[in-house]
Amino acid sequence: MVTQKTTDLQPRLLMVCPDCDWVVRIPVVSAQPARCPRCAHRLGGGPPVAAKEVLALSVTALILGLISLWLPFVGYAANGSEQTMSLLDTGRELLHFHERLLAILVLFTVAVIPLLYLLTVSWVFLRLLLDLRLGKVTLYLIRTLVQLRVWMMADVFLLGALVALIKISGLASVQLASGFYTYIGFVVVLLICADRVSRYQLWHLLPHRHAPAVKTGRTARQQQLLDCVCCHAPNHCDDDRCWRCGEALRLSRWRGWKLTLALLLAAAFMLVPAHLLPVMEITNLGRTEPSTLIAGVLDLWRGGDQAIAIIVFIASLVIPVAKILMLLALLWVSQRSASMPVKNRLWLYKVTDWIGRWSMVDIFVVAVLVALVRSGQLMSVYPGNAALAFAASVILTMLAAMAFDTRRFFKDES
Ligand SMILES: [Zn+2]
Ligand SMILES: [Zn+2]
Repeated sequence: MVTQKTTDLQPRLLMVCPDCDWVVRIPVVSAQPARCPRCAHRLGGGPPVAAKEVLALSVTALILGLISLWLPFVGYAANGSEQTMSLLDTGRELLHFHERLLAILVLFTVAVIPLLYLLTVSWVFLRLLLDLRLGKVTLYLIRTLVQLRVWMMADVFLLGALVALIKISGLASVQLASGFYTYIGFVVVLLICADRVSRYQLWHLLPHRHAPAVKTGRTARQQQLLDCVCCHAPNHCDDDRCWRCGEALRLSRWRGWKLTLALLLAAAFMLVPAHLLPVMEITNLGRTEPSTLIAGVLDLWRGGDQAIAIIVFIASLVIPVAKILMLLALLWVSQRSASMPVKNRLWLYKVTDWIGRWSMVDIFVVAVLVALVRSGQLMSVYPGNAALAFAASVILTMLAAMAFDTRRFFKDES
């Protein structure tokens, strides 16, 4: 229990609520989660982080993740030919078709970022366990750890792989290989590990620095203070870097409705080619059929996989469109005193923010199919132009949600 010793010395953490801008001092460790007194957003608290447990989880996930990269993931047999693919083949085959950006996106979100995250967690918690000083490098790594988390999509990839296998099962016989099972283990342990890492307790463990004079029980904006997007410490408006975590404060200044609107419009624009152009082309016995996202859903439905068809339909059409419309609507209500209660606006924002990443399932379906059914004489799958446009739309919408300033919901009460 590394945190216990320092907890007694400085039991509270100075923070700005990222949702409503309220300045508070929250208990670092508590029986119940600490919530913002103004908007009830969870700010920290909870049981102390057990460094041994986190280290064991991160090392286990690291080993499972590295093994999964090299082991055969799935195999298929069709028209007398047999093939297997590994996770690395998803990126390799996309590169083969000159889809560099897609290859980088898939490899980074599925393997590189989760593994970097786990390496960082292992480094930080090993130092904590050995009671070593948390220096500049560790501070940088903790900031990276917080920022990487949102881009880890190993769980979404697993769903994408399952959809791809169901899609191809009508044309070929599919077999799950050992890498598939180790990857499931990797995803489960990674999720547990990420849940155990309390970033609030990590901020508390950093070497103590001089905090600016602030008053709790009022907003940061009322005191001309700026909320750090990484550790949510209150900072002076003219400072360049956060006094606690060292993060550049320009990101806090960028957050706002203009950036959100620009990102949302760009995301909406990218959805047009994403749905009009083919997301992949399937060649089977000499016949090439381009397949759009919606045509893929209809194929699944006709093939008898209605449940999967509904999941893909929600991921490829409902979530991307609903997310853009919902954020636009929230931007609209944040500009005026609409009748919708603040609590409902915050809830809608959080749901919208959470579901966005699940749309990436379509990209992972294409990546797995392209890697599994490599160009052969009888059957092959090629990535289409819509895949990149769709991925761009998903990422732009995720960035729009991050740039969204929920503090505007409270402007009438500030
Ligand atoms: Zn709040
Ligand atoms: Zn900070």
